[in-house]
Amino acid sequence: MPSDQTFVIVGAGLAGAKAAETLRSEGFDGRLILIGAESERPYERPPLSKDYLRRETTDKPYVHDNGYYAENDIDLRTSTEVESIDTDASEVVLAGGERVGFDRLLLTTGAEPRRLSVPGSDLDGVLYLRTVENSDAIAERIEAGGRLVTIGAGWIGAEIAASARMKGCDVTVLEMASLPLERVLGPELGAVYRDIHTDHGVNLLTDTALESFEGSGSVESVRTADGRSIDADFVVVGVGVAPRTQLAEAAGLKLDNGVVTNELLETSAPGIYAAGDLANARHPFYEKNIRVEHWANALNQGPAAARNMLDRNDPYDNLPYFFSDQYDVGMEYAGYATEWDEVVFRGDVDAREFVAFWLAGGRVIAGMNVNVWDVIDDIQAIIRSKATVEPDSLKDTDTPLDELAESVAGAES
Ligand SMILES: Cc1cc2nc3c(=O)[nH]c(=O)nc-3n(C[C@H](O)[C@H](O)[C@H](O)COP(=O)(O)OP(=O)(O)OC[C@H]3O[C@@H](n4cnc5c(N)ncnc54)[C@H](O)[C@@H]3O)c2cc1C
Repeated sequence: MPSDQTFVIVGAGLAGAKAAETLRSEGFDGRLILIGAESERPYERPPLSKDYLRRETTDKPYVHDNGYYAENDIDLRTSTEVESIDTDASEVVLAGGERVGFDRLLLTTGAEPRRLSVPGSDLDGVLYLRTVENSDAIAERIEAGGRLVTIGAGWIGAEIAASARMKGCDVTVLEMASLPLERVLGPELGAVYRDIHTDHGVNLLTDTALESFEGSGSVESVRTADGRSIDADFVVVGVGVAPRTQLAEAAGLKLDNGVVTNELLETSAPGIYAAGDLANARHPFYEKNIRVEHWANALNQGPAAARNMLDRNDPYDNLPYFFSDQYDVGMEYAGYATEWDEVVFRGDVDAREFVAFWLAGGRVIAGMNVNVWDVIDDIQAIIRSKATVEPDSLKDTDTPLDELAESVAGAES
């Protein structure tokens, strides 16, 4: 790629930072500008609800060392918001009016927490978690002790609840569904996580809708739709995130649950790419577009977009993967299950050391290892094989999973 080109990346999170790294490591020696609205240089978000939130570490989880960007001639502009994209002129317009021209553009503007608008939402002490500053603010409240109510028992709500319990707070979790994490994991695994939280002393209120927050100035209680009032010193809302599509929308890019891209992560505007939480990318394995709001997707899709900006023609086909840590329960999940026929367990569910497989039409479409390690590659191989697998052979702990993966990978799909 000739060195007189300028590549611009908008969004200095994990996807953007890894894309910049890849452009340089793959030999792009043109001008490279990485623009981020936050004041911090790029950092990873998973620790913000885990060890960083519990103050087990005070090191910010930066993606690169302080000197990395200058050493690699990456023009990192923090505290800089891109206000619009002029696709006709191939320029981004910064807040303040400066225009920056680009030959290729990557959008990695991520996602932001969905905000509540119930009465009392503006009270002091009603908090959200996305940034390191948000995590610092919640950590301060946790250190002070007291009663936390989390709104939502998805990943963010569940992890914050776990961290706050580990630090000795009284924790109530309010969830509209019947079980925590049910939307993603379904009832079988939702029940496992219900028990994990209640065993650790969380007051878990499921099938419960939020009505309002009450207090004068600061939140003092949370009112439920069925008329209960729960005392609270602070509240953290974790009701999902929405992709930050405003720039792309104003620029006329095709949107559908995020910014739509092809398998090469190129948007409907030639030369403009998208990756990470923002991108609803065509997935060759699933033969449809999917948007994945997880760390590994940002980590790997940013670099894949970078390679394609260099015309490497490299379709992104990693299987979705995520992890979560709550109390002493660690898990990894691979695959993509929205509908399934059954969930098969391998190992000891009561001891919380097991692998779960989601099956549809006799094939494994997703798998999750809980406190069992070094099996995620085998799980992915089984999913990728698209082979029909006998549930009994999945359950049989006498057959090592790598052997099973090898045998199904060789089988007819
Ligand atoms: C607390 C927390 C815990 C998590 N834990 C896990 C976990 O355990 N496992 C897991 O798999 N995933 C986890 N995730 C999800 C994971 O962190 C995200 O999937 C990942 O951060 C997505 O990276 P991204 O680079 O696509 O977007 P983001 O991280 O959202 O970064 C986008 C960046 O773009 C910037 N930006 C947006 N618009 C503009 C603009 N107009 N101009 C300039 N800059 C802009 C934003 O300020 C932001 O810094 C967690 C997320 C959070 C918040």
